[in-house]
Amino acid sequence: METRKDIAVGSHIWAADPELAFIDGIVVNIKGEEAEIQTSEKTVVANLSKIYPKDVENPAGGVDDMTKLSYLHEPAVLHNLATRYEINEIYTYTGNILIAVNPFQGLPHLYDTYMMEKYKGVPFGELGPHVFAVADVAYRAMVNEGKSNSILVSGESGSGKTETTKMLMRYLACLGGYAAAEGNSVEQQVLESNPVLEAFGNAKTVKNNNSSRFGKFVEIQFDKQGRISGAAIRTYLLERSRVCQISETERNYHCFYLLCAAPPEEIEKYKLGNPKSFHYLNQSNCYELVGVNDANEYLATRRAMDIVGISKTEQDAIFRVVAAILHLGNIDFAKGEEDSSVVKDDESKFHLNMTAELLMCDPQALEDALCKRVMIAAEEIIKRSLDPLGATVRRDGLAKTLYSRLFDWLVDKINVSIGQDPHSKSLIGVLDIYGFESFKTNSFEQFCINFTNEKLQQHFNQHVFKMEQNEYIEEEIDWSYIEFVDNQDILDLIEKKPGGIIALLDEACMFPKSTHETFSQKLYQTFKDHKRFIKPKLARSDFTIVHYAGEVQYQSDQFLDKNKDYVVAEHQHLLSASNCSFVAGLFPPLSEETTKSSKFSSIGSRFKLQLQQLMDTLNSTEPHYIRCVKPNTVLKPAIFENINIMQQLRSGGVLEAIRIKCAGFPTHRTCIEFLGRFGILAPEVMRGDYEEKVACKWILEKMDLRGYQIGKEKIFLRAGQMADLDARRARV
Ligand code: ATP
Ligand code: MG
Repeated sequence: METRKDIAVGSHIWAADPELAFIDGIVVNIKGEEAEIQTSEKTVVANLSKIYPKDVENPAGGVDDMTKLSYLHEPAVLHNLATRYEINEIYTYTGNILIAVNPFQGLPHLYDTYMMEKYKGVPFGELGPHVFAVADVAYRAMVNEGKSNSILVSGESGSGKTETTKMLMRYLACLGGYAAAEGNSVEQQVLESNPVLEAFGNAKTVKNNNSSRFGKFVEIQFDKQGRISGAAIRTYLLERSRVCQISETERNYHCFYLLCAAPPEEIEKYKLGNPKSFHYLNQSNCYELVGVNDANEYLATRRAMDIVGISKTEQDAIFRVVAAILHLGNIDFAKGEEDSSVVKDDESKFHLNMTAELLMCDPQALEDALCKRVMIAAEEIIKRSLDPLGATVRRDGLAKTLYSRLFDWLVDKINVSIGQDPHSKSLIGVLDIYGFESFKTNSFEQFCINFTNEKLQQHFNQHVFKMEQNEYIEEEIDWSYIEFVDNQDILDLIEKKPGGIIALLDEACMFPKSTHETFSQKLYQTFKDHKRFIKPKLARSDFTIVHYAGEVQYQSDQFLDKNKDYVVAEHQHLLSASNCSFVAGLFPPLSEETTKSSKFSSIGSRFKLQLQQLMDTLNSTEPHYIRCVKPNTVLKPAIFENINIMQQLRSGGVLEAIRIKCAGFPTHRTCIEFLGRFGILAPEVMRGDYEEKVACKWILEKMDLRGYQIGKEKIFLRAGQMADLDARRARV
């Protein structure tokens, strides 16, 4: 390896460090490939390939755009974010990508009406980085060019996506709002859809006290005058399992606790009480949230429901279903004759009757639907009993189906009530969707989430690459040799038809004898040479995908079950016959066609289709990206965990964007800036009366640099060349 031109004894550098990610110091000695580095605390030895030049002229408070960094590399990016975070500058640009570091403390001055006014109509980049600036640029582009725009917010759980999304929507509502002639205005309804969806789709998790358990794309439609004229909300993959199963320190969906804190007459009506008395809530010891009053939240949710146009009767029916689910979870089963099961005791009977009463169905029919399975043989219908375990599984299945249908109903209702503007030609879409996930155990949900992120990553890369190219084209420089590696191979592995993982999973689900083991064997065979697929050593059914953000090992044991979406026929019959039209409406009768033709419908394939539709929408818009970063795992202000943040910048594609920039010309400087910094390298040219561009060229040639480009107004340097020039300047 060639020794590095940009590093010498005396250079200020960053070296890789296992604890802090990077530490800074000064090179005191170089022997072959090893450099000895003096840091403030110790002397370390590092390989030359693992050290990065540090810019000592970087302004004290950092720079508000990463592309202003003289040396664009990981330690510089991380250090810049840390420096800014320390002084509560939570927003930083990387070109036109906004990085938002969660402050974990209220910063009200950042979002008040004064701030909103300040950002209105100001060209992007003129004021400090801010979510309002992103919303403003999207809005102006839409109004001026009549083109749809989208804002994609991503980041890991607890990083601030939903808060950011709400801020964006508030700003857009402020720009596009106008007093409605009567009733609630569209923008008010759009804003109030948030608390309704949060009450039913958010929950406390280990990572976030108000974690969204679904993905969301809000499409705000505008008329010719740039006023909000309609909106559509699309949601993705609500986490169903949470309804019946919660881990320690987590909670179920907020609405259950809100209802338990409702005014006494409602508690009486629904025969509720302490959340501790319900199985679906008492599996974890956590009932209350710090700083949240469930009783107030209940009333606030009701008010928000009023505004989005959910009638009082509908609200009553909604909460009746929520209460029914709690009672349903308290029905236990005991062993009956032979392999059958019966409702366990009087208490369980009480809950069975309550569930039936609230759902307005026949209690005996409910009991049968839980304890018996109907088999349709050639000529006759046979009822088979289920054992207590089987009945419990059925009960939980019913709870999950009820809840997810309720959630879908809410989304549909909000959409109908806000209304779509069929004449709208331009929209602004806001995407708040789960970021990349990698846990100790990863199941079908993580698989779908990471698939989503691969899709978005591809979109992001293409966009960043295109933006870079545009600048090169504008400056008329030669960029033809710049390439970048795409993640298409991972997408093929997952979604290719036929033969991708989703297709193979569907096949397995349709074949009655498949197990997760046969499914995994099939994967091992099919992808044994795929460079993005790994069969982990000793694994019998796990498989690993090499995602753009790192390797994730998936446990396949529940993939088949979780991919199958069906409503048990007995539950369908029971509830479509409910005397409550709301409940019956959640279970519309199936057409002859669907009952016969498709034995199962695949969640994976449906999700893939939804995702494709989302990508089609996004592709027809001008995208803007916001990357949210969670600075620490303790959810506290002022703590900046380097290694953790590096991982997020990697998963969020920020480092990839930087890599794409580095593959081209990471440093762009105007000729004047360039001469100001490097004129000293060629005093002879500075004394003469040369045109700026000529002077720049002189210096670059004198320094014997290769591969740089001189555009119309700017100098484009390859990675490392700026540091190289700085090093020489220091020696003058
Ligand atoms: P999930 O994927 O779990 O839904 P998320 O990325 O949507 O997570 P948020 O719910 O938006 O995360 O944020 C988590 C918490 O962080 C908020 O409840 C709030 O306390 C805090 N927070 C986020 N952004 C801000 C902000 N800009 N100012 C102040 N606090 C914030
Ligand atoms: Mg969220």
